[in-house]
Amino acid sequence: MNSISGKVFIDWGEFAGRLAPVEVIEEPALVKKRSRDFFWYSPILNEKLKGCFGDLVAVPKTVEELTLCVKVAHDAEVPVVLRGGGTGNYGQSVPVEGGLIIETTSMNRVLDIGEGFVSAEAGALMTDINGALKATGQEMAMFPSTQDIATIGGFVAGGSVGIGSLATGALREPGNLIEIKALSVEEQPREHVFRGEDVLKVHHAWGLNGVITEVTLRAVASRDWIACMATYDNYRSAYVAGYAAASAASISPKMVSVVDARIVDYFPRLKGHLRQGRDLLACYVPAEDVDTLRRLVVEKGGLLELTLSDEDREAAGIPHVFEFCFNHTTLQVLKSDRSATYQQVGVPDPSDADALVGLRQDLGDDVWTHHEFIRLGGKISAIDLPIIWYSGKERLDAINKTYEAHGFVIYDAHTNEVERGGLHNADYTHLAWKKHLDPKGLLNSAKSAAWHQVKHLSANEIKAMAVT
Ligand SMILES: Cc1cc2nc3c(=O)[nH]c(=O)nc-3n(C[C@H](O)[C@H](O)[C@H](O)COP(=O)(O)OP(=O)(O)OC[C@H]3O[C@@H](n4cnc5c(N)ncnc54)[C@H](O)[C@@H]3O)c2cc1C
Repeated sequence: MNSISGKVFIDWGEFAGRLAPVEVIEEPALVKKRSRDFFWYSPILNEKLKGCFGDLVAVPKTVEELTLCVKVAHDAEVPVVLRGGGTGNYGQSVPVEGGLIIETTSMNRVLDIGEGFVSAEAGALMTDINGALKATGQEMAMFPSTQDIATIGGFVAGGSVGIGSLATGALREPGNLIEIKALSVEEQPREHVFRGEDVLKVHHAWGLNGVITEVTLRAVASRDWIACMATYDNYRSAYVAGYAAASAASISPKMVSVVDARIVDYFPRLKGHLRQGRDLLACYVPAEDVDTLRRLVVEKGGLLELTLSDEDREAAGIPHVFEFCFNHTTLQVLKSDRSATYQQVGVPDPSDADALVGLRQDLGDDVWTHHEFIRLGGKISAIDLPIIWYSGKERLDAINKTYEAHGFVIYDAHTNEVERGGLHNADYTHLAWKKHLDPKGLLNSAKSAAWHQVKHLSANEIKAMAVT
């Protein structure tokens, strides 16, 4: 059998035979399809990753089948990439070194639900987890806007915040992740259980340091959420209202987003529902808070145009409001025009709307801001996920510099190395656990530049490099 990746030359037919009875996908077109994620949001990553493919896909249905896949890959010293829904934005699930792709979507059972928690297999879709929780009057403490196609294992391994994070903080904050079970990649793979603070040893490691089999997460009491959309005649007012709604003691929103009017123009499914050419404030508030929100919107100079229960929304033929927020905002624009891209930017002082106005002037017309409010460490924070009209790397670098000159922080969305994006630094705790659970370095190693500098060290030596 030829190597589809052109990188791993073993007898892939014989390898596939050793995986029996696990379902495998060998058809090159399908293997290539499962070698992609949403890296094409970035023209830089697109250029770098569009020619990277795996060689074979395994689709285990049980932990036993998953264990077999891991063992066979270990014995053959084949690179392995775990894949959930493949919705990552930075090529996290692209098999850069070729090899085996293990797709978890058939390991998708919700295992247990109790008051305040839910346990599920790694491949469970978050929409299904939320569906199962709904019957108990609960919902996930947070979930990404990709909940319909993204898995819980992928969110825990690759995600960070989502809808709900304004109320419950980032995924990494105490109590949100209760337990993670992960398999080692060894001759006899072993399941390790991480609880409490130890979950951070695996969370957001991009599948570098263990194969997540099962996750237990915080669940919260469900509210009667109303999706609200208000519009403003300038971005500053929409932002001020957004910050006020996010931080008001009298309102308990789970999401507040502010979107530049020029971006809203790319939302065809909202046409006829909102006044045109106006900046948007979109949020979810409990039904009992709608009147307070209405007063706040008007006080800040806006018009509350839509207040939708889920039934109203469906009847009006409008998608979930979160599908215009978080990274779906970028997707809505990309659906019409592939020359757009984006960036991820931390706002130093979310209460300072004047700083934002100054920044927007300096950024220029090819950068259209979009802010999400979240709660980090109990405090309101804001992140900007702007639409950037891409005209080359030089201009992108200049845009980044403008943000930085104003004190904003770039979490680069155009890198597929874990330590150059959201983390900013190498996480030696992650890498020590990688040495421990994946001594041959087979798991997604191309995504960590730091791994290649420390892989010759022992797990304890790597751990000692961790900043405490
Ligand atoms: C339109 C859009 C909106 C988004 N919105 C958000 C958002 O609101 N918040 C957010 O945090 N992210 C967001 N993302 C990014 C992404 O959707 C989330 O991180 C998502 O949860 C990833 O899940 P997935 O199943 O698609 O994972 P994948 O993309 O398949 O994998 C992500 C990473 O996890 C690893 N992985 C997957 N399964 C396992 C496993 N069982 N064990 C070990 N490693 C594993 C993969 O190797 C990869 O490194 C968005 C992306 C898009 C395209």
